[in-house]
Amino acid sequence: MSTNPAPDLSTSPVALQTGFDASHGAPVPAHETLPILRVTANNPGPFTFHGTNSYVLGDERLTIIDPGPADDAHLDALLKAIAGRSVDAILVTHTHADHSPLARALQQATGAPVLGCGPHAPFRDLADGEVNLLDASGDRAHAPDTVLGDGAMIPTELGPLSVVATPGHTANHLCFALDAHGVLFSGDHVMGWSTTIVAPPDGAMAPYMASLDRLIARGDTLYLPGHGGAVDDPQRFTRGLRSHRRMRANAILERLKAGDETVPAIVQAIYAGVDARLHGAAALSVFAHLEELVACGDAATDGPPLLRGRYRMTG
Ligand SMILES: [Zn+2]
Repeated sequence: MSTNPAPDLSTSPVALQTGFDASHGAPVPAHETLPILRVTANNPGPFTFHGTNSYVLGDERLTIIDPGPADDAHLDALLKAIAGRSVDAILVTHTHADHSPLARALQQATGAPVLGCGPHAPFRDLADGEVNLLDASGDRAHAPDTVLGDGAMIPTELGPLSVVATPGHTANHLCFALDAHGVLFSGDHVMGWSTTIVAPPDGAMAPYMASLDRLIARGDTLYLPGHGGAVDDPQRFTRGLRSHRRMRANAILERLKAGDETVPAIVQAIYAGVDARLHGAAALSVFAHLEELVACGDAATDGPPLLRGRYRMTG
């Protein structure tokens, strides 16, 4: 079992949960009492931990959450877990290449409709000359039968599953909650093993923070995320993530005050203890914070905020 480092923030005060037995391809019970299976795809990496978790809900009439990457072995594993039972719906949290593409093949194999997040779209257009470094991770072919908005309800064998819109990691990110059981499928919005990537223009920090607030205001008692193991103390954990991001924003303002002007200079200063291979991901996170600090007037730059821009304090 390989262990990948978190892509961001090993200096985090959040207690990340990095123990996880992926059991690639084999269905693993994901809940003590409810019939929920986790099948983890064999696509480990710095941004996917041990791989993408697909969830299979129900005994007789099934609901699948996040089919995963376009991977024949994972399709076989899901079909084995489904074992000929009927599938009512294939739900997708967001359009990253490790979550949504297998929806097409799974739909062909099962006839179930694909529901959930809308087509892939960034939060904003690219500025002149700006490059979207995460472009390849977007699944632009995702074409759901039905796009579900916040508050929509999907009937499942385990009770209604409600849609909780949680933009931030992507603009279209959704969580799904079995409200009657306090179980929330948190996708890539909140994961136990790592803080989530928030990288403009596909991601945006202000909506991400608002989406953390949304989850904190709910009473869910268990999160089943898109990567890694269950989060069994989700309120405390999500509050920790929020404090962590606020601390980062303050640290970035401190660096601007100290005279740093660029993303690389800030990364060098505040991620000094972090593996240099992760500095690319850290740069995107710093950029996301700077974009938000400019939007709220605490920082300034000339023209639109850019990864390679120069920044300063205001006032
Ligand atoms: Zn993602």
